Amino acid sequence: MTAVIESKKVTPEIIEQLRQIVGKSEVLTAQEDLIMYAYDATLPEHRPEVVIFPHTVEQVSAVMKLASAHKVPVVPRGASTNLSGGTVPMSGGIVMTLTKMNKILEIDQQNLTATVEPGLINAEFQAALTPLGLFYPPDPASMNVCTMGGNVAENAGGPKCLKYGVTRDYILGLEVVLPNGDILHTGGKVMKNVTGYDLTRLFVGSEGTLGIVTKITVRLLPVVEAKRTLLAVYDEVVDAGESVSAIIAQGIIPTTLELMDNLLINAAEDYAGAGLPRDAQAILLIEVDGYDVALDRQVEAIIKICKENKAREVRLAKTQAEVDKLWVARRTVIGAVARIRPSYDMQDVTVPRSMLPLAIKAMQEISKKYNIPIGVLAHAGDGNFHPLMMFDQRNKDELERIEKARKEIFDKALELNGTLSGEHGIGNSKREYLKYEYSPEMMAITKGVKKLFDPDNILNPNKVVAVQ
Ligand SMILES: Cc1cc2nc3c(=O)[nH]c(=O)nc-3n(C[C@H](O)[C@H](O)[C@H](O)COP(=O)(O)OP(=O)(O)OC[C@H]3O[C@@H](n4cnc5c(N)ncnc54)[C@H](O)[C@@H]3O)c2cc1C
Repeated sequence: MTAVIESKKVTPEIIEQLRQIVGKSEVLTAQEDLIMYAYDATLPEHRPEVVIFPHTVEQVSAVMKLASAHKVPVVPRGASTNLSGGTVPMSGGIVMTLTKMNKILEIDQQNLTATVEPGLINAEFQAALTPLGLFYPPDPASMNVCTMGGNVAENAGGPKCLKYGVTRDYILGLEVVLPNGDILHTGGKVMKNVTGYDLTRLFVGSEGTLGIVTKITVRLLPVVEAKRTLLAVYDEVVDAGESVSAIIAQGIIPTTLELMDNLLINAAEDYAGAGLPRDAQAILLIEVDGYDVALDRQVEAIIKICKENKAREVRLAKTQAEVDKLWVARRTVIGAVARIRPSYDMQDVTVPRSMLPLAIKAMQEISKKYNIPIGVLAHAGDGNFHPLMMFDQRNKDELERIEKARKEIFDKALELNGTLSGEHGIGNSKREYLKYEYSPEMMAITKGVKKLFDPDNILNPNKVVAVQ
């Protein structure tokens, strides 16, 4: 039974106290403002009772003490680009938007670390590092808008994560405000740290349900010397999937191995005009990086493997302009599908890489069975793929078919020894499906962790797991 905290807990007195804590201009209560904070990149909507913009950790702590005393739900929010209903305030209460805590506090070139505030936009961080010859690998396709705090809370991945790993692999330390207002500091600048339990890793990916991240210390890398970008073109989607397994099986780990099927190639082409082959059933966008001298051999090997796996053509991008065009097409394709149908449901199931061809085939069958266009976009090298179902949410019949297709997508991923979510998290939208992947023991321990950190269930309540 889901314990939903009653909405309408935010009294005029609480609003007055919030104004005193964060300042009058940093509190929104007008209905037209609240509507703007009622949704994220998924379909469900629920209006908060108040939206606030803290500027300091002390303010975040004071707000949590107030919320805790009155048992008011609080939903932390970055740019709200998450794809799991994570920032929809389903129980009303306070939406705490962290976007005004957006400073780079330090870039430490000796230790190759940086400390930033949670509202900093990922791409702005990257832009500040490049002139210093430094690089922060996690690069979600939404990097131009999403925040570092949101990335930590979702343990975001991205195209480069095949070679470099995901957000979790770069987080060294955190400052976190607990639901009761206590401030914790985990980890630090050290590269090795096995003192006690690894609370840093527990907070990463906890989807704003255990604490509010107010400071992030990350590991940096030196910028790589060179890269090459390739486009492999296929007449069958499964051949692209086979190429992915074959490249990895030969011991080559490209920086990026992204797959797009015909539906999405055309959506991307309509929007971005990058010169993608409209008649191809699939493309692979492949990138390798490292020392310049080593790259040509890798490129040759990849071209050979792709051709052996029935690529009809493999193009090497010759200019930076060509590379940029390909990336614009890849990074904008999700928005571009709005030209096909007004609504989309995008999942992020993940299977062992070798299962990718089977998984893609299953998506084609589900698409036919429910008569729903499903585009496939994949961080293919990670076995992490995004079946993108396109529909019109105003059509009840279509919505019902989407529900059934979604369940089949999850069933298929689990049948192939995969997982429900590779990078978008469980949030609100996949919470009811968690029981299909988790054993009762895993469920119980997960609920126990939530109760330990948040006994009153006020912080982003009922996301990931519902607790009594
Ligand atoms: C077009 C598009 C492309 C995308 N591509 C990718 C991709 O390649 N890889 C990927 O992993 N994801 C991707 N995403 C999903 C999304 O962008 C990421 O999950 C991102 O990390 C969310 O950041 P955000 O700032 O928008 O966080 P929000 O959506 O605002 O929040 C996400 C979650 O984090 C919590 N949260 C936010 N800030 C804090 C904080 N300071 N402390 C504690 N909890 C907090 C929220 O409560 C929520 O549960 C994509 C989304 C879109 C729309």
